[in-house]
Amino acid sequence: MNVIDLRSDTVTVPTPAMREAMANAAVGDDVYGEDPTVNELEATAAEMFGKEAGLFVVSGTMGNLTSVLTHCQRGDEYILGKQSHIFRYEAGSSAVYGGLQPNTLEVQPDGTMALDQIRGAIRWDNPHEPITRLICLENTHGGASGAPVPLTYIEQVAAIARENKLKLHIDGARIFNAATALNTDVKTLTAPADSVSVCLSKGLCAPVGSVIVGSKDFIKGAHRIRKSLGGGMRQAGILAAAGLISLREMSTRLAEDHDNARLLAEGMAALPHMSVNLERVRTNMFFFTLKPDAPISVDELTRRLHEEYNIIIRPYNAERGEFRVVTHYWIKQSQVYNVLDAMRSLVGGGMKQVEGAAD
Ligand SMILES: *Cc1c(COP(=O)(O)O)cnc(C)c1O
Repeated sequence: MNVIDLRSDTVTVPTPAMREAMANAAVGDDVYGEDPTVNELEATAAEMFGKEAGLFVVSGTMGNLTSVLTHCQRGDEYILGKQSHIFRYEAGSSAVYGGLQPNTLEVQPDGTMALDQIRGAIRWDNPHEPITRLICLENTHGGASGAPVPLTYIEQVAAIARENKLKLHIDGARIFNAATALNTDVKTLTAPADSVSVCLSKGLCAPVGSVIVGSKDFIKGAHRIRKSLGGGMRQAGILAAAGLISLREMSTRLAEDHDNARLLAEGMAALPHMSVNLERVRTNMFFFTLKPDAPISVDELTRRLHEEYNIIIRPYNAERGEFRVVTHYWIKQSQVYNVLDAMRSLVGGGMKQVEGAAD
């Protein structure tokens, strides 16, 4: 039986079409600018996002770090969410390599930071204070259950940025999920941003890589920073070939993952001893809680799902009985039903009284 891995969309492996494209990719030395497939990937990304230029980078972390370091100088401050990936999960890289100071604001359940708090966080022009240079948003917001952040909000933040001569960067690791959920395209959704970082290797299935997009000047600066971070790759067209399929084909099918997440969430919400906030299931991830009255512990559920059913989930906050599950290309609808059957056997079947179940 195939493994059903719900830990993250980072576990996706390349599709057969990707492997074939990789095997046949035309390559050259990208540090000389001579890899035709990398050049095609960067041009394709720039066009899809309506920006002047693109740059292929090793990872989402490198995409964010390169962008932030390109926008800011040592000692500058940048504003971002306390629950954002850049702040929480990138090893403090902008402080380590850029001497930058993060100014963090609380992220609300919808993935936004309050506008008045953003305004309030911008520094005065005064020698006592660091210089605020940049605002970072995240879309979809992983720390907020994968909430898609809407264009109207991004425009409001961009207006604040412009009034204060700041730059706006979007960590768009899952920006295609956001565009899918909001029924728009990435060009429209990211138009107000100066730069966007996009993961090819999450729901889009490429084995490696991210792209950043922005103005020609921004990418020129980013190119130097990428090199300094050790991200100048040689015959990287092998990887870019998969990335092109990510952008062109895999980006258009994410609604299927979102539907599967909803199906799974609704099925789990109907089980006893489980709770899911269905309102917050907007894209390809959600949180569920195994209640303290459940006949099985967090560890046992995790272990038995793996050993007996080949289903991998990972507790997000074991103490609170909280798990995060993420759907992706390698989870098909029939497997969602397998997961529900397994959960029902382990956590207990029966019917639960459901408040306002149908919608
Ligand atoms: C995964 C992720 C990243 C970074 O990705 P890596 O490729 O693992 O470095 C950045 N931002 C968000 C929101 C992510 O989910």
